Amino acid sequence: MNNIRRIGVYTSGGDAPGMNAAIRAVVRTALYHDLEVTGIFRGYEGMIEGDFKNLVSRSVSSILQKGGTMLKSARCPEFRTVEGRKKAYENIKAAGIDALVAIGGDGTFTGAQIFSNEYNIPVMCIPGTIDNDLAGTDYTLGFDTANNTVIESIDKIKDTAASHNRLFFVEVMGRDSGSIALYAGVAGGAEAIMLPEKDTAIDELIEMLEVAKERNKTSMIVIVAEGDKNGGAYNVAKRVKEKFDFYDTKVSILGHLQRGGSPSSFDRILATRMGYFAVNELLSGNSQGTVGIRGSKITSTSLEDALKGKEFKLDEELITISEVMNI
Ligand code: ADP
Repeated sequence: MNNIRRIGVYTSGGDAPGMNAAIRAVVRTALYHDLEVTGIFRGYEGMIEGDFKNLVSRSVSSILQKGGTMLKSARCPEFRTVEGRKKAYENIKAAGIDALVAIGGDGTFTGAQIFSNEYNIPVMCIPGTIDNDLAGTDYTLGFDTANNTVIESIDKIKDTAASHNRLFFVEVMGRDSGSIALYAGVAGGAEAIMLPEKDTAIDELIEMLEVAKERNKTSMIVIVAEGDKNGGAYNVAKRVKEKFDFYDTKVSILGHLQRGGSPSSFDRILATRMGYFAVNELLSGNSQGTVGIRGSKITSTSLEDALKGKEFKLDEELITISEVMNI
């Protein structure tokens, strides 16, 4: 068996809907196993400053349905230094924490791996980011909720677009990852999707729009991921307008509203399953893993493999499907 008596849980990096549901699941699963739980506030910053609070079942009441994270999040350059991590370890030790659950993106995971190696402390990582760009899992926490938010906006934009022969360029989050753009584009019936992973030339896009116009489309939506190589929705719209001005052209940048909101049913269930799984893995002796969903199964990948396999690949078949749907 193991010597784990107290688990520390924290959220770090970019926040995502579903993080609260994961915290709740970690706390309640740990309590179920008669462990104690420390909430570490503001990620690695709070670890270095000793910003800790003992969590009981009631501490996580009514957070399941809330976006953001009750433990707050931060970016902490000091944790990248040996001295910073030493301070963090002293606080962890003084608080009697024997194992950690980290919820965040690949920066958070990298910090967790280095810390775990240096101080021999077991850690399980839960993928929480709306970008859906982590290896070791089909879906990250927050991605489904962000998609639903984007789709709701696209539906509304489509209503006004259809009334006025408009061509809308909708910019969605994703600096390096086109996951939101692709999924929301398919679910929202976009005429074209511009992804950071693909070089879509403006002339190619105009050709697609010309074809759609020939098919008597009265309005069109182009989804542009913020990391698209042409420089975002305003730039794409401007360059298209120069050569193709049949439609009234509009731009909508969805921005940070995609990060917020109450988590979807999918994200709540995923977060709850992942939090439960993470604690049970620690108790079974897993000392450095990430939690993921593969198909319908919750699984674990070693942190090393998850971080090595960094380059998350978009679903090529879904890209093809999105093109076929525009016939
Ligand atoms: P995300 O977890 O969403 O990818 P960041 O990349 O900002 O967000 O990482 C969150 C935090 O993880 C950083 O502010 C830093 O404290 C820690 N971190 C990231 N990379 C490292 C690293 N190489 N060494 C130590 N800590 C790191």
